[in-house]
Amino acid sequence: MAGQKIDRVMVITAHPDDSEFGAGGTVAKHVKEGREVTYVIATNGNKGSSDRTMTPQRLATIREAEQRNAARVLGVERVEFLGHEDGELEDTRDLRREVTRQIRKWRPDLVITMQPLRTKNLYASHRDHRTISGVALDCIYPLARDHMAFPELLPECEPHKVREVNLMQWDDADIVVDISEVMDLKLKALACHQSQFQDFAGVEERVRERAATLGKTKRYAFAEAFDRIVMPR
Ligand SMILES: [Zn+2]
Repeated sequence: MAGQKIDRVMVITAHPDDSEFGAGGTVAKHVKEGREVTYVIATNGNKGSSDRTMTPQRLATIREAEQRNAARVLGVERVEFLGHEDGELEDTRDLRREVTRQIRKWRPDLVITMQPLRTKNLYASHRDHRTISGVALDCIYPLARDHMAFPELLPECEPHKVREVNLMQWDDADIVVDISEVMDLKLKALACHQSQFQDFAGVEERVRERAATLGKTKRYAFAEAFDRIVMPR
């Protein structure tokens, strides 16, 4: 943490399972250290299936239940689903207002979100991932902070200042979080997303490999990594 007290954490992602992949271990640590964690998930993940008998409606229901199970495993306090169509997330006034509303409602000190830039990592660069993290940054500053932005949110959702943002990052990250002790919990939470994996053993192997690579510079067995933005007071 940046020397400032962090009591409440919000994770803002595009799809069910993004939080567990990118920050499941870090989330587990925040919970263990007594922080309240809220998830905000922008889409219902209703396109993520290769099963030709699956329908978007059925998949959305399944993925919501899977996400609630994963959140329960990690000790996340609440999950807010914004319900947008998977793969079609757009940076609109409505989305910015919804995300601003969530930030003002739950008042996080720290927001963890995805990577707004297109990188060499295709997974990280998914269009919905870039869109939600760009929107999250715009909502943290200035939209959640300024009372004249979205006046319709008042008086229920008063302005709020987020102190710090952590962006999921794979290369040359600012902070490397040791998740060795909670690696099994991260995998257990990830495994809740059953509809996404035909072979979880293969996924587990890849997730362990990536976490081991991220931990190398700090000599941690397993790590997650983030870029850090500390907001001026
Ligand atoms: Zn995703």
